[in-house]
Amino acid sequence: MSPKKLNELNKYKKECEKKYEEEKDHEKELYGKECVAHCINFVVDKANEKVADLNIHDRFSCYLATILARDKEVVAVWLRILKDSSEIYLFKNFNWLSEDEKYIEDITKYLKSRWNKLNNDMNNNDNEHVKSLRDYISAEIGDEGNYISLSLVCYEYYKLVKDNSNISPKFLGHIKKVGSYFASIKGIIDCAKKPQYKPLFSNIKVKKGKPVIIDNQPIYSWKNIIKRFIDEDEEVEDKYERFMDRCLKKPEVMGRIRKVYTDNATKQPQLDDDVEKCIYLHAEMNILASLIINNKITSRVFIAVSKRCCYLCELYINFAIKQGYNIVISGKHQKLYDGWILPHVKNSDFKNKSLIYILENLDRIIEKKIEHYTRSLPADSNSGGNSPDPHDVGGNIYNMGFMKNLTMEYQICREKSVITGMRVYSINKA
Ligand SMILES: [Zn+2]
Repeated sequence: MSPKKLNELNKYKKECEKKYEEEKDHEKELYGKECVAHCINFVVDKANEKVADLNIHDRFSCYLATILARDKEVVAVWLRILKDSSEIYLFKNFNWLSEDEKYIEDITKYLKSRWNKLNNDMNNNDNEHVKSLRDYISAEIGDEGNYISLSLVCYEYYKLVKDNSNISPKFLGHIKKVGSYFASIKGIIDCAKKPQYKPLFSNIKVKKGKPVIIDNQPIYSWKNIIKRFIDEDEEVEDKYERFMDRCLKKPEVMGRIRKVYTDNATKQPQLDDDVEKCIYLHAEMNILASLIINNKITSRVFIAVSKRCCYLCELYINFAIKQGYNIVISGKHQKLYDGWILPHVKNSDFKNKSLIYILENLDRIIEKKIEHYTRSLPADSNSGGNSPDPHDVGGNIYNMGFMKNLTMEYQICREKSVITGMRVYSINKA
């Protein structure tokens, strides 16, 4: 290679390294700011009670997310309806266990069969009630129905007409039968109640998306971040001390600082030096980044999550929406957590811009709070956020009463029925 070429190559290599270092530094800043913002302003705003308009498939995804999440697990589900089949993507925040595979296999077997028979039932009936059912199906799902949606519509239609004595019991039976394909989904609940599946459920049993966890992410220290928000022409140390005095008077803030910054070795809060933290990608971000953004899917996508989505996930979704994506999520709780990973999408421009967007919002939050704490007026008593448990991620939004009803309904129309065309499979295999 000519000396000139070699020179160019070296220059290019150096540029790449510099860019990489800058990127790492920005991430270190982001994760440092997350920790500070979490400590001083855990609840960013009131929870948004507005519920998105959910269609029949969205509700189904919500059922699944709810069914699959037990204890403190967070599960995100994306149900993708294709022409002849449906795909269910399941992600959780942490690792899947080996038992997960067997569980999913069992469920899949259970769901595959008998579609043809039901299909014949539908085709061989052509009276006014069949027409009424067809109109109902057409109103709910148009012409794009597949097995799952047809089944779910029949399941709901059956509930409407089951007491109508004008409809022949035979035909009612057919509707119920079609609907019971969907009811079989609820067999998941039944499985979950069996003792042999209990341990599986407590860790989620599905062989699915691979979680993203970084054990030792370096973050800028508490002090480093706070000082970035104090003007150079001010008495920096003085203002920092005043800020710390105010924090010390807030037990909820101090509690979070202890949780976030306590050094594992010394068991003491480490505020002056950079630290390393375990961070992880929230399950809904994993679906959004690896499946939706990386594949440039701009049609409407509903992501069902077993818990309401946090403040940073909401910010990221808002950013994605501004970039032309159509993302709908089931609920938001406006709490800001440390340890949230910025999704690494293939499109580096998208990634860089999303990082800037999140940083801008964190800056606003931290700046406002520092200003508030260091003003001469006493800070309001509620300004540090109010949840006693920073790891309470907003509560399960699908209450247990609902689950009970679902299970009871399933018992009533329990049949050995199944949904064909539904595949549960693994993605992001290690
Ligand atoms: Zn989140």
